[in-house]
Amino acid sequence: MDKESSLNKSLHVQNKLSRRDALKLMGISPIAATVIANSVTPIEAEASTNVKGKIVILGGGAGGIMAMAHLRSKISNPDITIIAPNEIHLYQPGQVFIATGVYEADDIIMNNNDFIPDDIKWIKDEAKSIDADNNKLTLRSGEEIAYDYLVVATGIQYHYEWIKGLTKEDIGTNGLSSVYLSDLEKGTAQGGTLSWKWLNALEADVQAGKKPRAIFTQPSTPIKCGGAPQKMLYLCADYLKERQLHTEFIFTTAGASLFSLGNVTKELQKTQNSYEGMSTKFKHNLIEVNVADKKAHFHYIYEHTDEWGTESREEEVILDYDYLHIVPPMSPVDAVRDSTLVWKEGRAKGWLEVDKFTLQHRHYQNVFGIGDVCGIPMGKTGGSARHHAPIMAKNLISAMQKKELKEKFDGYTVCPLKPRYGEIIMAEFGYDGPMPSVPFWKDISVPRASWWIFDVYMLKPMYQHLMMRGLM
Ligand SMILES: Cc1cc2nc3c(=O)[nH]c(=O)nc-3n(C[C@H](O)[C@H](O)[C@H](O)COP(=O)(O)OP(=O)(O)OC[C@H]3O[C@@H](n4cnc5c(N)ncnc54)[C@H](O)[C@@H]3O)c2cc1C
Repeated sequence: MDKESSLNKSLHVQNKLSRRDALKLMGISPIAATVIANSVTPIEAEASTNVKGKIVILGGGAGGIMAMAHLRSKISNPDITIIAPNEIHLYQPGQVFIATGVYEADDIIMNNNDFIPDDIKWIKDEAKSIDADNNKLTLRSGEEIAYDYLVVATGIQYHYEWIKGLTKEDIGTNGLSSVYLSDLEKGTAQGGTLSWKWLNALEADVQAGKKPRAIFTQPSTPIKCGGAPQKMLYLCADYLKERQLHTEFIFTTAGASLFSLGNVTKELQKTQNSYEGMSTKFKHNLIEVNVADKKAHFHYIYEHTDEWGTESREEEVILDYDYLHIVPPMSPVDAVRDSTLVWKEGRAKGWLEVDKFTLQHRHYQNVFGIGDVCGIPMGKTGGSARHHAPIMAKNLISAMQKKELKEKFDGYTVCPLKPRYGEIIMAEFGYDGPMPSVPFWKDISVPRASWWIFDVYMLKPMYQHLMMRGLM
């Protein structure tokens, strides 16, 4: 179904359904969704291996839980301890759908009690430091935990405070929003709800005849789900466009292009052109916010050419805004960053120093990584963590058996870009280029209504009932 007819359908049923249901229904294509579902085959159960050793998994988010499930299913009588402060488990990709009125806040809340079985020792604390030379870590409580094998799955931390003039508490006030805002330790995700309120306030302003300027930022650090800043940009623009409410949208990114793959970049540029009043400022990194005066300061680096040649210049650019959607700078959590486990230099500096194929630490052979914390040259997504899990688990077991590590990660990552309601560009790729999971949809840059249905309705139950249980 094309977008227009899907929209007509959703508007037609809007009288009977809530606005949220109508937003969800845009792009419905059950046949294609069924095809997709059938194309995803659960991993076959494998025979248990009788290996000995205490495995400690650090972190109870997507990667930590998947690592636990895969290891537990592969080892007979496993000795696994998981250190995870959070009982609440957030389905983080759903934050974008909350922010754009498709999901409600409760839709993304899950419970780690449902994922962590009784035969796994669960310590509800977090690591303060890791002493990899002595195979132990220290918890916030002061307790020391020794391990034979360590799986690091601590994800990412946000740094709103690295932007001068801004505190986390400012988000939700004075036209500021951020879909990322959450406290993973406590299991709270305010970012989605605050951004939905923010979009409604923007809508009300335009309806009142104002011409607000909305700026959407992307920082210079690696971020989880690199597509999320643009998902927010396009869905917010489409939300207003459908209501005939035109406004000024500026995307400011520290990067030099919209995406890392040429044909996807072209499609995103086409998307931007379809929104009147939308523009992008490349190489603009948000460094300061004057919250009271609504001014955003950017560090801008550019090439200057004159009769003397070309040189790199930099300057501070100040933009007024009415609404500012902030994607914070991100880093590994302190316990990992301050340990001996991280890259000391290069572009992955501070991230876990694992081999990009085996996910084994490059110096500590009893340490493995999974998920966003890994210092490898590929995206930080839940989709990557799902592909890491079986590879990491099999390689860890091989290490326990003192055998060669045979499993190799191919760099798979996925970015479900949302150019408008009802369509998704499912950009799946790896170290060697595009990796479409539906073989007959080779061109990963094509926006498809079926991927919207898959993402809105099917991915969350698959995450909850299959991926978190090591069945996919
Ligand atoms: C807005 C948004 C949209 C996204 N959209 C998508 C998408 O569409 N597709 C996709 O594939 N991915 C998406 N992602 C990314 C995806 O959620 C992450 O890549 C995934 O959760 C990574 O798993 P992880 O285990 O590495 O980190 P997390 O799931 O973040 O888990 C890390 C865990 O470690 C814990 N922890 C931290 N420090 C310590 C410590 N010192 N000791 C013990 N535990 C600790 C934290 O409490 C947390 O529970 C999105 C994320 C966001 C925020």
